[in-house]
Amino acid sequence: MTSPSAPTSAVVTRFAPSPTGSLHIGGARTALFNHLFARRHNGRFLVRVEDTDRERSTDEAVKAIFDGLSWLGLFADDEPVFQFSRADRHREVANTLLETGHAYRDFLSADETGALRDQAKAEGRDFVSPWRDRDPTVDDLSKPHTVRFRRPLDQAVVVEDAVQGAVRWESSALDDLVILRSDGAPTYNLAVVVDDHDMGVTHVIRGDDHLNNAARQSLIYDALGWTRPVFAHIPLIHGPDGAKLSKRHGAQAVHEYAEMGYLPEAMRNYLARLGWAHGDDELFSDEQAAAWFDLDGVGKAPSRLDFDKLAHVNAHWMRLADDDRLAKAALDVHLSRGHALGPEDEARLLHAMPFVKDRAKTLLELADQTVFVLKPRPLALDEKALGQLAGEAADRIGRLRDRLALFQSWDVFALEAELKAFAEEEGVGFGKIGPAARAALTGGSPSPDIARILASLGREISLGRLDDALQQTK
Ligand code: GLU
Repeated sequence: MTSPSAPTSAVVTRFAPSPTGSLHIGGARTALFNHLFARRHNGRFLVRVEDTDRERSTDEAVKAIFDGLSWLGLFADDEPVFQFSRADRHREVANTLLETGHAYRDFLSADETGALRDQAKAEGRDFVSPWRDRDPTVDDLSKPHTVRFRRPLDQAVVVEDAVQGAVRWESSALDDLVILRSDGAPTYNLAVVVDDHDMGVTHVIRGDDHLNNAARQSLIYDALGWTRPVFAHIPLIHGPDGAKLSKRHGAQAVHEYAEMGYLPEAMRNYLARLGWAHGDDELFSDEQAAAWFDLDGVGKAPSRLDFDKLAHVNAHWMRLADDDRLAKAALDVHLSRGHALGPEDEARLLHAMPFVKDRAKTLLELADQTVFVLKPRPLALDEKALGQLAGEAADRIGRLRDRLALFQSWDVFALEAELKAFAEEEGVGFGKIGPAARAALTGGSPSPDIARILASLGREISLGRLDDALQQTK
């Protein structure tokens, strides 16, 4: 998808993955929704890598996420922001919160915190650090401490979520969040607020597992006097059985879908429909999705993965794809399966493509459907194929071969008519010819109807294979 060169409105969205693994389809859909929303409003779509967790964030995961996004064709409108590199800015804002009384230094050790928390729990109270209401001495200040956000007590926090509606929390239930750890490292909720603010993010569209964070983050926005973004929390993707998506449902990572032979435009189409609807439209282009996408169409219920639907969407986009591209893709699948192929094979695949592509729902199926095109001469016929050519079938194939040898116009429609005329002349139904011709021409590999097989193979190879088969029946 292309990006408009200059934004004409203020909408800014972002995709903010934590680089701890590959790009999952849930993340991919979040990225897509943010991308589409920005396109719809002629705004900007940004990417922020949330790499503050140094132990879990890896360079490979960063690469995997960008590879996944670029395979999907989702490109940010600006350089990506790496959250870890902004830690000084996060600390600066934490200091502002300290100065304005919206944060406090907490000198409890982890053990002390644990003990007081247990005690509060046993007494049926919420834990509050004693340092919330205690001024540190100059001496204290040199000791290790965390910085906690001083949430307002006894206040309702309402988030007007664009998908979930108004969601309400009691501030007392939210805890005084640690915003700086004792080593000075900023924590997630502070970093997200500061980055979203500084990046000018107007709409935070993300999975509803972050809904509680929206309440915490809203309080931080309010304390800083910053305008909250519009939050839109989208329900997670579930497996076909309605359970939360997990490994047992099969592929989760975007690259696995690529390996299963789905086209990126089909994934975009399918993922856009997963949790969002525009009337009954199932098949639509990127341009249509960008023109239609809005948060009103996002459902509140989790959406279920449906592999049949995905295959249907993919088949649609394969039919529309360039033969050139499909031939290259099929070649890649054959190569990945260890078949030694050369440039002439790509040409053969390209030639066959119009006659086979509607028989496949994925690129892997397309490769299966083109095995017959690539087989070298002479085809080694197995027992079954030889059986189809036994007795009078071979004589008939001989006559078919002679007739086709005189036939000049190697066009699929003309071939169809010619085969029909041949069957009539032989005084048999086509059922008496088809299996033997298929055996001779393909050796029994998956293949389309005979006219299409002939058109796929071309004149020379078709006649050659018929000759080879006849040789083997002698
Ligand atoms: N980094 C978070 C995640 O990968 C997303 C945070 C956000 O979108 O605000 O789940």
